[in-house]
Amino acid sequence: MDVGVRPPVSTTCPYCGVGCGVIARASGLGVSIEGDVTHPANFGRLCSKGSALGETVGLEDRLLYPEMNGIRVKWDAALDRVASEFSSAAETYGPDSVAFYVSGQLLTEDYYVANKLMKGYIGSANIDTNSRLCMASSVAGHKRAFGSDTVPGTYEDLEDADLIVLVGSNLAWCHPVLFQRIAAAKEKRPEMRVVLIDPRRTATAELADLHLAARSDSDIAIFNGLLRHLARSEAVDLGYISDHTTGLDDALKTVRGATLDWVVEETGVPAEDVQTFFDWVTDTERTVTVYSQGVNQSATGTDTVNSIINTHLLTGRIGRPGMGPFSVTGQPNAMGGREVGGLANMLACHMEIANADHRDIVQGFWQSPTIAAKQGLKAVDLFDAIHEGKIKALWVMATNPADSMPNGNAVEAALQKVPFLVVSDVVSDTDTLRHADVKLPAAAWGEKDGTVTNSERRISRQRAFLTMPGEARADWRIICDVAARMGHGHAFAFDTAAEVFDEFAELSGVENDGARDFDISGLAGMSASEYESLDPTQWPVAPGRDDERFFANGGFFTPDRKARFIPVSAPDQIKPRDGRLVLNTGRVRDHWHTMTRTARSARLSAHLAEPFLEIHPRDARARGIEPASLVELKNDLGRAVARALVTDRVAPGTVFMPMHWTDQTSGGGRVDKLVAPITDPTSGQPALKSSSVTVSKFEAAWYGFCVSRERIDTTDLSYWALSKVNNGFAFEIAGLDPMADPLRFAEEKMGIGGNVMSALDNAQGAAQIAKFDGEGLVAALFIARDPVAVSRKWAGDLLSARFDDQRKRLEVLAGRPRGDAPDPGPTICACFGVGAKTIATAIAGGCNTVDAIGASVSAGTNCGSCRSEIARMIANQKTQEESDERVSARRHATQPV
Ligand code: SF4
Repeated sequence: MDVGVRPPVSTTCPYCGVGCGVIARASGLGVSIEGDVTHPANFGRLCSKGSALGETVGLEDRLLYPEMNGIRVKWDAALDRVASEFSSAAETYGPDSVAFYVSGQLLTEDYYVANKLMKGYIGSANIDTNSRLCMASSVAGHKRAFGSDTVPGTYEDLEDADLIVLVGSNLAWCHPVLFQRIAAAKEKRPEMRVVLIDPRRTATAELADLHLAARSDSDIAIFNGLLRHLARSEAVDLGYISDHTTGLDDALKTVRGATLDWVVEETGVPAEDVQTFFDWVTDTERTVTVYSQGVNQSATGTDTVNSIINTHLLTGRIGRPGMGPFSVTGQPNAMGGREVGGLANMLACHMEIANADHRDIVQGFWQSPTIAAKQGLKAVDLFDAIHEGKIKALWVMATNPADSMPNGNAVEAALQKVPFLVVSDVVSDTDTLRHADVKLPAAAWGEKDGTVTNSERRISRQRAFLTMPGEARADWRIICDVAARMGHGHAFAFDTAAEVFDEFAELSGVENDGARDFDISGLAGMSASEYESLDPTQWPVAPGRDDERFFANGGFFTPDRKARFIPVSAPDQIKPRDGRLVLNTGRVRDHWHTMTRTARSARLSAHLAEPFLEIHPRDARARGIEPASLVELKNDLGRAVARALVTDRVAPGTVFMPMHWTDQTSGGGRVDKLVAPITDPTSGQPALKSSSVTVSKFEAAWYGFCVSRERIDTTDLSYWALSKVNNGFAFEIAGLDPMADPLRFAEEKMGIGGNVMSALDNAQGAAQIAKFDGEGLVAALFIARDPVAVSRKWAGDLLSARFDDQRKRLEVLAGRPRGDAPDPGPTICACFGVGAKTIATAIAGGCNTVDAIGASVSAGTNCGSCRSEIARMIANQKTQEESDERVSARRHATQPV
């Protein structure tokens, strides 16, 4: 890391699609981060992930030099090889024999040149992105209804709304700052209502006035029922419908049978709750419907999006303050990727591959020798095509498809099979990089310079505040260097990211004049210093265009400028057979994607340190699964192992597992291996939330937990999961075969032999072993027949503690803090390291609001990401107290006098 002191730099958080502004300060002491109070996405707020960004920018595990076949080489050699492999494959087998698989982590400038090279110079549209896994169904739904991929709303609409409907969106964990903005607005206006539609009772439910725990993939049934209900109400906007839409009659015919009883049957939601929801929407003009992965990651994602949009078109509630359908994206630059045409079915600047006029505009502007004339391979099809031998060269940029794509084993096999694989990445080892013929070191977040677009169409600058280490280069520059070697240097002769942006902005205005939604031609022609100081700017930005909110007065981008109602039918209910359960996958609060960055932070790793499976108590009981034991998931595609989290937050018949863990961080935690590669037929987006699995006990002969300054040897361990703690790592481990010799295990796997302290109880199968080095702990290992009952929060601090007397060392062997230092319990508040037991004690002491907890123990007073969990703890405590009172009253009433 650069050690010089630098002035503060305002840049953008690289995690989710909220796109928060951050101020980064780099110095010899590290990087400090704070929210940018001037940025309109967050006004100074940050979530736990954003707040911990400074802890993730170190150089450990960085890829610093180009490599070919695992050997460091010069850039020229690596670039020559990439160019020659792509050129030769395209010449020999045709342009469609090569492909790029890119990422919503790329900046707009990177994305633009990658797309230009593939579509305009190689002549194929085989460039797809991991955003296909995130929001492709929203794109397809927007285009069907609006004629363009337009998100009409702004974040302010969420604060202006009187009713917010969150569909398939755990906003509290996945878009935390938006959640905080809504929570703050609701606190000011308690009459504002929030409805959550989600099969799981997520942390977001804490803010909801009504939670509809609808079955997986039954959202269309709800919105078709709502459309029918609205159509018979005063909420219909006849003027808007006749002036600005077409197709209502067909849509209404489709929902004729969507009665209340039918909705109840399809969704499993009580009639009274469905009716309440319908009534609230009917009566509330200012309604915003927010949706994300729970809607998009489905085989009927596009139809679900249109079922939502239909209700807004019917009521004319779109494009005005406080109302509209609102897709929020998972990735920081998913929107930028859409804008440059980074999906296999789009051209640059929201133009269409299928439209000959658009192709002419783009090719004419680029002066390119060719232009892709048909859609390329979407993500799932792309990896299938590799298996079929159709793809000879693949370039993966800034993503890790081995872990994030469905059917992970088959994707990994494809990465092994493709004749030439180049991967550009920041880190040196991922499950994808392991198969690369050429590895190219890319610039990381703090070193990158360019722009991103957030979920409300706001373009923000990402500015470098660190020097690129080793020989890392910006992605756009790497792509341009390869393009030049392929003979296209004249078209890729950019010297700066600003020059790339300038060309992109100019293209957006060519033959536009309001014909296309995306137009930032007003930003073309900026000087380098204007680009450098560009403020966050919402598009469109063009002379005569000031449509901050689209569609209030129609003006859709269809040929007749009218929106389309799309008739959609509810799919059949998902009914797993043979005792199988429906597997839902998703995200946790403090990790991001495959954890290549967040796993570096001890603070973020403390919240949920291990892959887990949420399973309903009924399903757990039926399988003999105890809380905190390990469980095994299986289906035809693969197997995974995770810790059982027995909870009624999931419905009977369903389980939930997060998607973050990989082969670098666990042995068995890669859940996407079990996800079937079923896609939405319109968008090509995979259905990541409804696979079918068997779940059974993992018959562990022993469980273990250890902390260690160094990574332990996990080879041949039946189960393991790694997390970062201060000054080292923590490992959860388990074995299927009995542990014969704990001391030998400690020596061979952890490197702690010789002079160790130990307490062994062979009869009970228990062992505690610790090794000290002066006053510091090198490693400690705890083995038991049942899940190890050691406070993880306490153990996570051991490697940074001082052990200057024997009594303290003995506490380590005892596996618990001394009596006057109570166990804080699992971490809830990452910012202040406040544990669940500490919060529970404060609640028991009379703190019955989140603010009172904050005042007492500081939890929830910084980034606020944990406030919904604290609220849930308070609510649970109240429910428990009320239940105790009822039991006590009943007992009292039945006491013989
Ligand atoms: Fe980053 Fe959190 Fe803001 Fe998302 S909500 S952009 S993760 S700080």
